[in-house]
Amino acid sequence: MKYIDEFRDPATAKKLVEEINHLAPLARAQRDMPLQVMEFCGGHTHTLFKYGIEGMLPADIEMVHGPGCPVCVLPMSRVDDCVTIAEQPGVIFTTFGDAMRVPGTRKSLLQAKADGCDVRMVYSPMDALTIARKNPERDVVFFALGFETTMPSTALTLLQAHREGLQNFSLFCNHITTPATMRAILTDPDLKLDGFLAPGHVSMVIGAHPYDFVTRDYHKPLVITGFEPLDILHALWMLMKQLAEGRCEVENQYARIVPEAGNVAGLKAIAEVYETREHSEFRGLGNIGDAGVQIRSAYAAYDAEKKFNLQAAASSHDPEHLKCAEVLRGVIKPWDCPAFGKDCNPQHPLGALMVSPEGSCAAYYAYGKLAKRKETA
Ligand code: SF4
Repeated sequence: MKYIDEFRDPATAKKLVEEINHLAPLARAQRDMPLQVMEFCGGHTHTLFKYGIEGMLPADIEMVHGPGCPVCVLPMSRVDDCVTIAEQPGVIFTTFGDAMRVPGTRKSLLQAKADGCDVRMVYSPMDALTIARKNPERDVVFFALGFETTMPSTALTLLQAHREGLQNFSLFCNHITTPATMRAILTDPDLKLDGFLAPGHVSMVIGAHPYDFVTRDYHKPLVITGFEPLDILHALWMLMKQLAEGRCEVENQYARIVPEAGNVAGLKAIAEVYETREHSEFRGLGNIGDAGVQIRSAYAAYDAEKKFNLQAAASSHDPEHLKCAEVLRGVIKPWDCPAFGKDCNPQHPLGALMVSPEGSCAAYYAYGKLAKRKETA
């Protein structure tokens, strides 16, 4: 299939792996530990495991799984807010499917639905708008979740609702931003990263330049990449080449999709609707300044937080014995969590990283890393 097969070609993959094997010892140079390369995005984590890429890499490289899965970093307090909104009389609460299973302190949205709330899974914010048009007597709320990838679609949906004068549609805004989250990761004293693979879909919206601070201020090379196996191997080769040659640059492996300046129309819609939120709580990372957005006051009528007068929820923490925070920060691997594969599994997730297919715990579980856990026990 065009645009698929050429990015999964085994012969090209073999050549790239050979090149990476050649470059990695040079890139590692005098370091007394393997190179720590963070794939920020859960979509990349999924590709790494689905195609067995991690197992092809030399011992000089250790992949560190980042927090770039919006469902995984959703704190329990925000799930509680979702449930509070869904419980209001007359509300239809709409959301992407994976967010329905994320545990809150009281219950998940799926449990709220089982208890009688009208919670509906949709495939896009425009589906929620259609529900609002068909149910003028009901308040329809869409759970706006995700990094910059999904922000243009929610912003444009809000603007469409505004144009139509729909009074019964609002967004519960939980969008978060990639560069600020990366900055928080870079200041974590427990992490000693040597480079980043940056998410192609986010970069398609924001472009390449918002990552300049990673090379300028933190001296870590970064390669923007796509989600096919050859994209990831090519990006790792580019990263190893930078390190071996002593360079530190933002490079764009995914130039077939990512324009240097991003998506101008998408960025315009984002700027029109959203403004930076002073603090946003991330599961496992705590409050990160400037890492989230909120709806501008000009569109307050479409802001569910204001419409339903939500009070700022207290910070919430996962139970002590669950290691979601450490896994999210890349400090430990999923099999280091005592609940992994036992109490916590895809059928019965205790933490958000086991809910979304992009969560590293779900990826380890789905692609056989339970066995690896036994080997290393
Ligand atoms: S196994 Fe479950 S509880 Fe443990 S870190 Fe993963 S998601 Fe969290």
